[in-house]
Amino acid sequence: MRAPGAQGILVMAPPYPGSCLCGQVRFRLNAEPLTLYACHCTDCQRRSGGALLLSMWVERASLEVLQGAPELVSSIAKDGRERRNRVCPACQIRLWSEPTNRPALAILRPGTLEHAGIFTPIAHQFVRSALPWFVFADGVARYETAPDDPAEFIRLWKEAKKQFARG
Ligand SMILES: [Zn+2]
Ligand SMILES: [Zn+2]
Repeated sequence: MRAPGAQGILVMAPPYPGSCLCGQVRFRLNAEPLTLYACHCTDCQRRSGGALLLSMWVERASLEVLQGAPELVSSIAKDGRERRNRVCPACQIRLWSEPTNRPALAILRPGTLEHAGIFTPIAHQFVRSALPWFVFADGVARYETAPDDPAEFIRLWKEAKKQFARG
């Protein structure tokens, strides 16, 4: 369903249904995401227990809980900032975070979406700590660390969509 080499394009209109692992929490994303990128920093590797962490930025108002009540769990990160995550109270799966400094934004874990495969990250950051076996897609934006302004990811996403629309 994806054009070869195209990054971050969408072939399905919203809403996008999602759920936690046990199925107690069901939700849907009612608008297209703002961006999707992968982070290979060592914090994200620990957080995910894997090679990288995918972050999908969405408008918080576009997340609609259909079933269950994701709990708001707060923790203090290494940088001293508070992190607030929506977590399923039964299976403890983290669904999205709600940044305290950006009340309109939520950062969704896109693997919780039913059709996660239709979204391709438009960029990879902290590639300097990427696991050595990880293979990057051709042409995808890569940052040794992070871009100066994370809004760069929103710009890249918009660009990728335009490119796809042009064919
Ligand atoms: Zn659950
Ligand atoms: Zn990271």
